[in-house]
Amino acid sequence: MDRVNFRAKVLTGHLKNHHNSTIDLLHTAQCVNYSPPELCEPPSAFNTKALRKLLDGESMDEIDYIFNLMIQSDLFCPRERGGKVFISPDFNKSMEHQREMTMKRINYLREQGAFDGWLTRKGPDAERSGFTRGITFGVYDHSLGIKLGVHFFLWGGAIQFMGTKRHQDKWLKPTETYEVIGCFAMTELGHGSNVRGIETITRYDASTQEFIITTPCESAQKYWIGGAANVSYNRVILTRFSCILELMIKQLNLLCINICTSLCLLVNDTYVFVFQHATHAVVFSQLKINGVNQGVHAFIAQIRDANGNICPNVRIADCGHKIGLNGVDNGRIWFDNLRIPRENLLNSVADVSPDGQYSSAIKDPDQRFAAFLAPLLSGRVTIAAGSMNITKIGLAIAVRYSLSRRAFSIRPNEPEVLLLDYPSHQRRLLPLVAKTYVTNL
Ligand SMILES: Cc1cc2nc3c(=O)[nH]c(=O)nc-3n(C[C@H](O)[C@H](O)[C@H](O)COP(=O)(O)OP(=O)(O)OC[C@H]3O[C@@H](n4cnc5c(N)ncnc54)[C@H](O)[C@@H]3O)c2cc1C
Repeated sequence: MDRVNFRAKVLTGHLKNHHNSTIDLLHTAQCVNYSPPELCEPPSAFNTKALRKLLDGESMDEIDYIFNLMIQSDLFCPRERGGKVFISPDFNKSMEHQREMTMKRINYLREQGAFDGWLTRKGPDAERSGFTRGITFGVYDHSLGIKLGVHFFLWGGAIQFMGTKRHQDKWLKPTETYEVIGCFAMTELGHGSNVRGIETITRYDASTQEFIITTPCESAQKYWIGGAANVSYNRVILTRFSCILELMIKQLNLLCINICTSLCLLVNDTYVFVFQHATHAVVFSQLKINGVNQGVHAFIAQIRDANGNICPNVRIADCGHKIGLNGVDNGRIWFDNLRIPRENLLNSVADVSPDGQYSSAIKDPDQRFAAFLAPLLSGRVTIAAGSMNITKIGLAIAVRYSLSRRAFSIRPNEPEVLLLDYPSHQRRLLPLVAKTYVTNL
């Protein structure tokens, strides 16, 4: 009973206090009177451009160029606030929507020339430019960065660094213009980090001068392959567009010039959608020559034809919804004795002659494997740099929130305290801000 009386007393106190409060309930309390920091903050006491120059260095113009391209298109959902334009991705939308938007954004950026020279321009400036642009796209949406990264840095990078002139001449330019869309098929269901353990097997047929790629068991299926999936999705879009076309042709009889223009636009749209899924893969596989396993090698294999249909002897399935990165269509691939030309072996480290003789300047299999995988290190650097950018976004959100959200007042009826004025928040956030600046220098 004492307990009940006590609770009733506390509640009465609350109600009484509330009643006597001088706060006018008809007006918004300060704590919920949200105003973004950029609207209420005084102008900064130092030159922010000079600080950016220090942090972003030579990459500043590249970063500005990419953000300017993005804020100019509705595809990136730009919103103006306090004289600044904010762009935001679609994490709350369906997987299908995110995939479609990623493809549309890539197409827009391609049309704007954002990828010109990414694989064909040479020299440190070109490399830095590609690297900066790649991770800047990831700041907007990791899906966009990864989808581009798989095509340019994994597929394109494998051709650049694991292939030789014959591959570079044939594949780099069409990759840059998206006539060829590449994916990178290394990981298998049974083996990820342990690349040497992968089970896909490739043999050589000297009579036709072809390699034959085989998935010998379920654990050898290629898994997580970015850009490889979206099979049914392609067809849905194609069907939808062909229905619209058919309807227009029937109803309007194809007479007016305006109609022709609309049709062209639709056809162009269809073209864009179809060609946004991987047509080719660099496939990692054990190479068996005359019964001897020469270890892991990489091969170029066509997995879809020019119309987006999956090639014979290839099967593809969709990995489906993931906890993140839903703008990237990760897929599974099986090879049922797929034949590819001898020239499709990426032969910077080892080669197979037309009559089936294996040769490599590096005799030790361990060293050969290390030399073979060394070019992939730059991809790991990109992932690390991209991850740092993502953590910066998280930190920026936390700091902005702590500069706009208030909680509890020190004395009754006083304004509530800004989160960042609490030492607990300062101790959590400010060392991370300092660390971020230092690691950027
Ligand atoms: C979103 C996404 C996209 C991807 N895109 C691609 C792509 O385009 N192309 C591609 O080829 N691959 C891709 N991958 C695969 C990626 O490269 C692999 O996930 C990665 O190499 C790790 O392999 P794994 O997932 O098989 O795990 P593994 O590293 O093989 O690990 C399996 C398990 O063993 C444990 N383990 C591993 N090593 C050790 C160790 N030394 N000691 C103790 N425990 C260990 C791990 O914790 C884990 O539980 C993608 C993956 C994801 C998630």
